[in-house]
Amino acid sequence: MSKSQPVQPTTNPQLGDMSVEEFRRFGHELIDWIAEYFEHIENLPVLSQIQPGDLKAQLPNSPPQQGEGMEKIIADLDKLIVPALTHWCHPAFYAYFATSTSGPGILGELLTAAFDNKAMLWRTSPASTELEDVALDWLRQMMGLDEGMSGIIYDTASVSSMHAIAAAREGVEKKVREEGMSGRPDLPLLRVYVSEQAHSSIEKGVITLGLGQRGLRKIATDSDFRMDPNALAAAIEEDKRDGFIPFCVVATVGTTSTSSIDPVPDIVPICERHAMWLHVDAAYAGSAALVPELRHILSGCDRADSLVVNPHKWLFTPFDLSVLYCRHMDLLRRAFSLVPEYLRTPEQEKVRNGSDYGIQLGRRFRALKLWMVIRYFGQEGLAARIREHCRLAKLFTSWIEESSDWELLAPVPLALVCFRACPTRGPEIESEHDHRLDVLNETIMHAVNKTGKALLSHTKLNNKLTLRLSIGNIRTTERHVREVWDLLNEQLRIMSDTL
Ligand code: PLP
Repeated sequence: MSKSQPVQPTTNPQLGDMSVEEFRRFGHELIDWIAEYFEHIENLPVLSQIQPGDLKAQLPNSPPQQGEGMEKIIADLDKLIVPALTHWCHPAFYAYFATSTSGPGILGELLTAAFDNKAMLWRTSPASTELEDVALDWLRQMMGLDEGMSGIIYDTASVSSMHAIAAAREGVEKKVREEGMSGRPDLPLLRVYVSEQAHSSIEKGVITLGLGQRGLRKIATDSDFRMDPNALAAAIEEDKRDGFIPFCVVATVGTTSTSSIDPVPDIVPICERHAMWLHVDAAYAGSAALVPELRHILSGCDRADSLVVNPHKWLFTPFDLSVLYCRHMDLLRRAFSLVPEYLRTPEQEKVRNGSDYGIQLGRRFRALKLWMVIRYFGQEGLAARIREHCRLAKLFTSWIEESSDWELLAPVPLALVCFRACPTRGPEIESEHDHRLDVLNETIMHAVNKTGKALLSHTKLNNKLTLRLSIGNIRTTERHVREVWDLLNEQLRIMSDTL
């Protein structure tokens, strides 16, 4: 190797970060901006009113060669970005599962960005590793889960559930980690069981893990959209007779379409009889267990092998933060741990290194925002807000029950109402009646959403187009719920005249 030339010191003033003075100035300005955003959020349309491609058309195709001033960038927030936002924090956001961030959560997220820790090893972020253990143990206690459940944070429930199924597969002892699954005549079909109402993330997880869609069997539900345990038991027995390996059941506590709750206490003995892993998808509803009188929704989960809950759904924590509780962290570790020389540390036998428990190496310091949310609101404060959402959903339900123009299409165990408009008309045959109502309800939903005053979403239940009103936003009050009820009735009146 030839000797390198001496390196001259640089005097380029344009290197380095934004100055501390500038950071402080624009940091304050942006916090003010966010405070004003929340103060006036109700004046903004919930659903973005732009058309596909509108934002891109206003942005340059190529990056700026020279840096731009923050004033200009912030001005574009108002001009370009805000109109292209659908405002999930708007109190009249009722679509999908309504969720929202909160002040302490935002401040936590800000600090996480500032620290920029990659918590792959304990030593790369002792704070993240240890705070995660503490915050998740607090959450476990608040949800009434037993001490055998140990928690780990991932980004989303989709990823949490995929890791749970991977750990379950590791427990099958078929050397999938070492040998893989393809080209193996010695490996029968491995099967996972879910209800027909389970979230699509489970199927995606099964696909990702190479189990194939054939590796997922969907079990019928009862009239209240809950998994039928007898059908589950029969399916497992049939699969065993066919030589398959049933290894995992995923029960849902709070399904996406209706928030129905699978009968976990009846599913547990089936899993135990067949030595199968029981994973509970409580991504949405798990937070409701913080409310003492709703804790029963997790009954039976003390015998589950794993459970996912998303604080980014109903615990006022900014996206993303999903928690997987697992009774067999050793299996999760066996499925994923791979430590190259450059990640070996002297303390690795004594600590928990996050990267041993999943596909990611670097992990965000997500625990900080959850810890701040829990400390700021306290268990009672969090429970009070969730309880209020359930009360508002019951109130909306009572208006539907009292009206002859609307009907409920599913029970309301928590804060999601499934309903449709069903104004009476002359005699009709049933299929025409349902088709007319599908068109009517879809039209009402789009009309309400187009006003920008509220946002609803839909699903199909028993082949009927069903409107969903989900209450989960920290800013939603009774006034907002009354307003959306009035809006729905107003649109129904307009549509009934035209359709
Ligand atoms: N499970 C259930 C029951 C859900 O309702 C959802 C999303 O709404 C998910 C899983 C997926 O959540 P995530 O976006 O965190 O992957």
